[in-house]
Amino acid sequence: MPDYAPLCVRWSDAPLQTDPVDHELVEAAGHLARTRCRGDNHTMAAATRTRDGRIVTALNAYHFTGGPCAELVLIGTAAAQGAYELDVIVAVGDRERGVVPPCGRCRQVLLDYFPDLKVIVGENDHLRTVPITDLLPESYIWADHQLRVVP
Ligand SMILES: [Zn+2]
Repeated sequence: MPDYAPLCVRWSDAPLQTDPVDHELVEAAGHLARTRCRGDNHTMAAATRTRDGRIVTALNAYHFTGGPCAELVLIGTAAAQGAYELDVIVAVGDRERGVVPPCGRCRQVLLDYFPDLKVIVGENDHLRTVPITDLLPESYIWADHQLRVVP
């Protein structure tokens, strides 16, 4: 056992910041997954809690050309309802797959759209709410690399 403090902590050893789980949101996505997913086209449901407290839901639209995940459809669906600020998001798979974490593309999109977003992840009995930044450490921030017009 070394008598010095470690200089760094491996990412996997770092405790994830967690918030209470919005079970109503998980149930909304789960209900949609059980009742509206169909065949290969719609296999994932997502739900979000908007900044003003509403729940908005959506399904993915799978297509081999790159059809959007449920999380991406959800961004547009929320905007169509006037909700541009999202607090928490969760995705649930069909066939009783439970909560499914966002794919890499969705993590990047969610981070760029909603830097303060929280995501519900984990197994059914061990769900937790984590900041989107915890799911994409050392990430590329699109807005930081855009040219700014100087007047
Ligand atoms: Zn995705």
